Amino acid sequence: MSFKSVRIGRLAGIPVGVQPLWVLIVALITWSLGAVYYPDSVDGIAPVAAYSLGLLSALLLFASILLHELGHAVVARRNGVEIEEIDLWLLGGVARMAGYPKTAGAELRFAIAGPAVTLVIAAVFGGLALALSDSAPAALRALVEYQALINVAILVFNLIPAFPLDGGRVARALIWWRNGNVERATEIAASIGRALGFAMIAFGITGFAIGAPGGLWLAVVGFFVIVAARAEESGMHLRVAFTGREAGRLMSFPAVTIAASISVADALDDYFIRYRYSAFPVVENARPVGLVDLATLSRVPPDRRPLTPVGDVAIRDEELLVDEHQDVAELLERPAFRQVGRAVVVKPDGSSGIVSVTDVEQVLRALELASAA
Ligand SMILES: [Zn+2]
Repeated sequence: MSFKSVRIGRLAGIPVGVQPLWVLIVALITWSLGAVYYPDSVDGIAPVAAYSLGLLSALLLFASILLHELGHAVVARRNGVEIEEIDLWLLGGVARMAGYPKTAGAELRFAIAGPAVTLVIAAVFGGLALALSDSAPAALRALVEYQALINVAILVFNLIPAFPLDGGRVARALIWWRNGNVERATEIAASIGRALGFAMIAFGITGFAIGAPGGLWLAVVGFFVIVAARAEESGMHLRVAFTGREAGRLMSFPAVTIAASISVADALDDYFIRYRYSAFPVVENARPVGLVDLATLSRVPPDRRPLTPVGDVAIRDEELLVDEHQDVAELLERPAFRQVGRAVVVKPDGSSGIVSVTDVEQVLRALELASAA
């Protein structure tokens, strides 16, 4: 369910991405506020003013959601979990974690941090709305009231106990805290979410059929909620299956390595075509320093290939050089590993192996088969 998001900047050092659908949502909000809300709230408002206020309101809403996500991010960091990216999509925002909270308490604090920020924003605008006297401009009052109401709506919506909404995490944290088993807690929280997702679809379609167009949106949300429940469950199974399993036991060893000084053209002929592996560790001074795969080499223009040493284009990411005792569950949480799909396992003597996401998935399938027997 992930559409490619466009990077728009950084917030507290965390990359912020926006999915193209968001532009559509901002446009829809601007349009509905400009066409209906502001003309209804402000007597005799000019259309240009109504739509401008609509756009301003949509952007303020956007800022409120970013602050909400920032709330999650700050608490995650304080609990030792880095935030890879803040992403704005159909249902608002997501703070994507690299890793996961280690205790039910940390999970609960992370989950409620966002709604807590939203509550503060709603209270600030709510207080402002009450403080504005009747003599204040009607347009200002309408703007402030809308922000108060929309933030209350965000708060309530986010507390629905279904992944990927914050309420789903809150539910998992509470069940986890009670039963002490994060895997079981995830399964229970996911089934609650799934049931709510099906209910949303049923209500949404019924509503749409009897003439409420908003029902369609509810059905779409229901669909995403069901998908998210599944993703959350399978992610947890992967994490549980590989916690305590070492990379050294999963790797293909020994790997054929490529010297950093060899040209890209020679690497293609002498390694990729000859051995038919999809990636190789790159070695410099008898130590692996990174890896290359076909995707990396394909980015070198053909006329540069005989002149470019493999070492110049190798993926040199410390996160992708691990020792034999590296916990595979922890490796799976590394963004670099998920992105590249492989890591180099370095033995003390400098020899190396490769562990790939495909290997991990294959072992998981075998484990599932074995446990079903
Ligand atoms: Zn949230």
